[in-house]
Amino acid sequence: MDRQISSSSSKKACGCAERRGKQNAYIALGSNLGDRVAMIEQACKEMDSRGIKVKRTSSLWETEPMYVLDQDRFVNGACEVETDLEPLSLLDQLQDIEKSMGRRKLIDKGPRNIDLDILLYENEKVDHERLKIPHIGIPEREFVLRPLAELIPQKSIDPSKPWKFIQDYLNELPAAPEPLSTLTPICASVEPLNALKATRKTQVMAILNITPDSFSDGGVHTPDSLRDTIMAYVRGGATIFDIGGQSTAPGTLEVSAQEEMDRILPVIELIRSLPETRDVAISVDTYRASVAEAAVKAGADIVNDVSAGLLDPEMLPTMARLGKTVCLMHMRGNPSTMSKLNEYPEGIIPTIARELLERVAAAEAAGIRRWRIILDPGLGFAKVGEQNLQLLRHFDELRTWPGLEGLPWLVGSSRKSFIGKVTGVPKPMDRVFGTAATVAAAVQGGADIVRVHDVVEMGQVVKMADAIWRY
Ligand code: AMP
Repeated sequence: MDRQISSSSSKKACGCAERRGKQNAYIALGSNLGDRVAMIEQACKEMDSRGIKVKRTSSLWETEPMYVLDQDRFVNGACEVETDLEPLSLLDQLQDIEKSMGRRKLIDKGPRNIDLDILLYENEKVDHERLKIPHIGIPEREFVLRPLAELIPQKSIDPSKPWKFIQDYLNELPAAPEPLSTLTPICASVEPLNALKATRKTQVMAILNITPDSFSDGGVHTPDSLRDTIMAYVRGGATIFDIGGQSTAPGTLEVSAQEEMDRILPVIELIRSLPETRDVAISVDTYRASVAEAAVKAGADIVNDVSAGLLDPEMLPTMARLGKTVCLMHMRGNPSTMSKLNEYPEGIIPTIARELLERVAAAEAAGIRRWRIILDPGLGFAKVGEQNLQLLRHFDELRTWPGLEGLPWLVGSSRKSFIGKVTGVPKPMDRVFGTAATVAAAVQGGADIVRVHDVVEMGQVVKMADAIWRY
């Protein structure tokens, strides 16, 4: 439908209160004051609570200011919403949200804690003194085109040029001095991930398995030694601790949710109580929603679910409600069945990409914002031997797979059995050198986070690999 609204058009066209069923619109999100991500997240919540349903979001992009250059960098994104408001009523609501969030306009196109613009509304053209749709800034603004290209790469914004897609406008822009990167928040004390920034540093995630049956370091932590271990990991360069209370190694028995909580909550509380770990993020390694929720209440910043929501139907909605960053891993079945579920008829990378795309879509449908998603290819989960090597060898293809670009990746190869097979080292804790090679390969392939047991050693490997590939 292509319908013009002009400032002199009828009240019906302005349609302040009129409802005509669900319409799709695209809203630009921007902020360069205060906690920029929190502002954007609050604006999305506000839209949802006013019946402007946020259906999908782009990534968030860190961008240089345009027009007024002497101001801080922006965080920009876009979202697809479903609304029964007419365009002008939608604008009223968005402006009211900006106002309610304390936005004060001092300089046109200057600093703002929140900016919400209507980019597109169905296929309609609106030409009103208060409202132009499609938004007139779209073609010249990379900070709008990048997020829109994630949501609707093959959409035309000009009915007279139906063949011209969002991506074509991007291709016409002069190259930016530095390519834009996505931004994934971790927590207030840890720098966000910039998955597309060539010079980003790889983050070291230290594994703390608080399980007597863990395949690798299980049972080695006593309360006394735990504090020393944590300190050593921080000195070794760990920026994230991943705490697990239920082993997911092939064939291990399930413990109860209560048992899992009893194991991990004291550790989270311990880390949160130490001044030396003020600046580290805490991740909880669990596939249970109730455990994730308790861990976040105790101070966890990331929910790391090896099943990407498949083992507990409450997990994705719980993650969405908690609003923390999440890690979605590729696996199939459960820890006792996964090793047999290792058929990849379309090839390992295309199949993992397709299955992860489904998990990302499910997460987004549950209300998890795209900028809160980290992916993990799941080495050793529903993959055997050589398949893990292929995955590492071609990891870069997975990162750049259409629909997955811009999302950050966690790679967990540490001490896994495929390393034992290649090196002939049966005991997981002796697989340090083999692990080092896989960590270097993961950095070369573009990992943002490596999850490791041998934190001090891999801290050095990561530093060296970063010096070679991330300069
Ligand atoms: P700003 O919030 O600084 O981006 O500017 C908002 C001003 O642009 C308001 O006066 C709006 O009435 C006007 N405007 C025109 N078209 C749009 C649009 N598509 N979305 C949001 N505001 C618009």
